[in-house]
Amino acid sequence: MEAIGVLMAGPMSPYLEQELDKRFKLFRFWKFPQKTEFLKENSNSIRAVVGYTTAGADAQLIDSLPGLEIVASYSVGLDKIDLEKCKEKGIRVTNTPDVLTEDVADLAIGLILATLRKMCECDRYVRSGLWKKGDFRLTTKFSGKSVGIIGLGRIGSAIAKRAEAFGCPISYFTRSEKPDSEYKYYPNVIDLASNCQILIVACPLTSETCHIINREVINALGPKGILINIGRGPHVDEPELVSALVEGRLGGAGLDVFEHEPEVPEQLFGLDNVVLLPHVGSATVETRNAMADLVIGNLEAHFLKKPLLTPVV
Ligand code: NAP
Repeated sequence: MEAIGVLMAGPMSPYLEQELDKRFKLFRFWKFPQKTEFLKENSNSIRAVVGYTTAGADAQLIDSLPGLEIVASYSVGLDKIDLEKCKEKGIRVTNTPDVLTEDVADLAIGLILATLRKMCECDRYVRSGLWKKGDFRLTTKFSGKSVGIIGLGRIGSAIAKRAEAFGCPISYFTRSEKPDSEYKYYPNVIDLASNCQILIVACPLTSETCHIINREVINALGPKGILINIGRGPHVDEPELVSALVEGRLGGAGLDVFEHEPEVPEQLFGLDNVVLLPHVGSATVETRNAMADLVIGNLEAHFLKKPLLTPVV
């Protein structure tokens, strides 16, 4: 397989890069500032693209690679891949489901606890010596709070299971009610937001779910409500979120993802009711290696003409 050209869209994982380099003819796209020139010279030999949350395969890239057979994403989210274009051209697509579910669900619970119990601020309080001048102020309890989840798939369900262990009543919104679920279903986001204290975004980013968290939803969640986003940044209308937090129309937010990563609205830096993470939902050594192994497994399966491990298209 050493002659097969694989284009890595960005520097996503040194382990994956090293393993791809051992098996294929690897092109590191980010190392070529002159993209057009690079594609002119190499497009005919590239048969696979490895994408991730920052860069995938849009229509322009797909059209410029006449020999492209497969896009293997080092992520479960597919929002950076033009799926319709891939279907149209018979290009296979794979992602990395399941192996990252636990980490992302763990992080969602961590974000809830960090936001309500002000764990990051508490840490700064101790480090800066302020504790010696007096105790930290009281915070807000998590156990027993009602939790609403947008997207009750692999990750949403894993978050629900964890929140249940904290004695939280669970409700959710998805396009179709899940018949096997005992959680309360709301057929729209506004009703879900009006009826929970903690609202968690755990659905894929699509044209339907872009800005699913808008002014109306934020106002429905209210001044004591907490928003947790472990989905994708564009799920949230960020200027609306910032103004709601600044004006006290929303109680707080725990955010792993942002609309224009790695840019984060500076107004959030001064707020003590937010916890800000640099998109690290699946970022543990164990999970990232498992994701890399899935990417490699899918590429090898494809080029050996075996069934793909985690096919999407
Ligand atoms: P999944 O198993 O496919 O579940 C998706 C859920 O979202 C399903 O319950 C689906 O139900 C629901 N959904 C889809 N479209 C919807 C819509 N328009 N409105 C409301 N609900 C909708 O996906 P997953 O593995 O749980 O992953 C979910 C997302 O998490 C990924 O797409 C990714 O963007 C994000 N993620 C983030 C990180 C991170 O690092 N922060 C890591 C991994 C994944 P219906 O089909 O019935 O609507």
